[in-house]
Amino acid sequence: MTDTAIRPAADRPSAEPPTFRHFIAGEWCESTSRATFESRNPADTRDVIGRFQAGSPADVAMAVRAADAAAGLWRRTPAPKRGEILYRFGALMAGHKERLARAMTREMGKVLAEARGDVQEGIDIAFLMAGEGRRMFGDTVPSELPDKWAMSIRQPIGIAGIITPWNFPIAIPCWKMMPALVAGNTVVFKPSSDTPHCATLLVELMAEAGFPPGTVNLVTGAGADVGDAIIDNPDVSVISFTGSSATGKGIAARAGAKLKRLSLELGGKNAIVVMADADLDLATDGILWSAFGTTGQRCTAASRVIVERRAVEPLLDRLERRARGLRLGSGLEDTTDVGPLINKSALEKVAGYVGIGRGEGELVLGGEPARDGDLANGHFFSPTIFRDVAPMDRIAQEEIFGPVLSVIPVDDYPTAVTALNQTRYGLSSSIFTSDANTAFRAMRDFETGIVYVNAGTTGAETHLPFGGWKETGNGHREAGHAALDTFTEWKAIYVDFSGRLQRAQIDNQ
Ligand code: NAD
Repeated sequence: MTDTAIRPAADRPSAEPPTFRHFIAGEWCESTSRATFESRNPADTRDVIGRFQAGSPADVAMAVRAADAAAGLWRRTPAPKRGEILYRFGALMAGHKERLARAMTREMGKVLAEARGDVQEGIDIAFLMAGEGRRMFGDTVPSELPDKWAMSIRQPIGIAGIITPWNFPIAIPCWKMMPALVAGNTVVFKPSSDTPHCATLLVELMAEAGFPPGTVNLVTGAGADVGDAIIDNPDVSVISFTGSSATGKGIAARAGAKLKRLSLELGGKNAIVVMADADLDLATDGILWSAFGTTGQRCTAASRVIVERRAVEPLLDRLERRARGLRLGSGLEDTTDVGPLINKSALEKVAGYVGIGRGEGELVLGGEPARDGDLANGHFFSPTIFRDVAPMDRIAQEEIFGPVLSVIPVDDYPTAVTALNQTRYGLSSSIFTSDANTAFRAMRDFETGIVYVNAGTTGAETHLPFGGWKETGNGHREAGHAALDTFTEWKAIYVDFSGRLQRAQIDNQ
């Protein structure tokens, strides 16, 4: 499919940017609000990608009705058959990988290689969950009574509200929608207002893959209008949200009052520990990739490097030299290492934290928006490094979500562990060391949902659980078979074929 094949969703008068629509009950439709909003390229804000429907609570109500109408048939469709549609969707994404990746880079800025990786994560989870259609294991266990059968099965919860951020605009929606759908739920999907185009392209492929009308519904628009209406709708039984901790806490209060199932994947303040015995060149590679990849805007980005004091100078030497050589620009250019920040308010937030950092550590690199030449048209910020940061400084504690790295010196492994765990977040962590004992201690001691040894803090694979401890979430996990826990209810089933009343815990004593 080429870009022009998105006509069902878009009007495109020649010079005007196209207008895209919601997808409800298998139809592309306008919002009842009659209002639209723009999505622009963050590397060059003169480039308008399109106009998108500013969804309203009435649109959400329509989408929920469509999801409800589709629910009966979809939950009765055998799971292996549901899985076949997921498989077709994964194959379609693979066929359109380059187109999706380019659209992603244009809309949210990450460099093309990373955008391809983002699409690949979507493909991987589609195939993994397609396989779950033939597994979705429950337990069959011996009964404590004779002539009695005992087992448990997973069943769909109902309608899933899917609310996603912009930083993995294909992967994260797929991480949520694939397990929801294979388990037999129907979906109302609200993407970030910074990446509605990626969401539209994704849903177009879902329709093409054969998800029946109403199974997947897309409503674009603001969190306060569309997101809240999804959460408040009594027919939406499960909410899966990824975004900032501040938004997540608000959603938790709202959904909690209605006793909804809620999966939250929130902020992070991930750290890399570098021991003096580490391969410092390898550590430098891992740190640069984790701190400045996706312009520091991954939930798993490393924004703290905790370094054994003896290694600080040689490591900083390498980091500074290599980071100085990173080239900023449009992620569509082969020569670009670091793309833009997502929007103006992100740029302002990063600049604000750099201001705070100047009063905490010592600035060794960057610290300014980058405005040379074409960069002036986008939201670029120079890769920034602070040294001599203390573990409890604000830049070492709060999520900045930009290319800002704090180097924190420590005396030894125990003080490194204390510094690493001294945060309210707990998503990802890593250690560089050549000592196997230290590596195993780290695997035991780091209070995060993901631990890497001799690699950066990013690079999760879709067949293991993904999620964080502490305020990074509320205990749910995405990916792996654990993802099914969010979207299924357990049912325990007992079949007594003895022909007489047998009372558990009483008749067998
Ligand atoms: P955000 O919280 O601003 O927005 C996330 C989504 O919530 C968007 O779709 C937004 O429109 C919606 N929203 C906003 N207000 C809402 C409301 N009142 N009710 C319902 N929905 C609402 O986050 P963001 O800027 O899009 O994403 C960046 C954040 O996401 C960072 O904090 C990052 O760490 C986090 N993140 C976490 C993970 C993870 O797996 N833990 C993964 C990616 C991103």
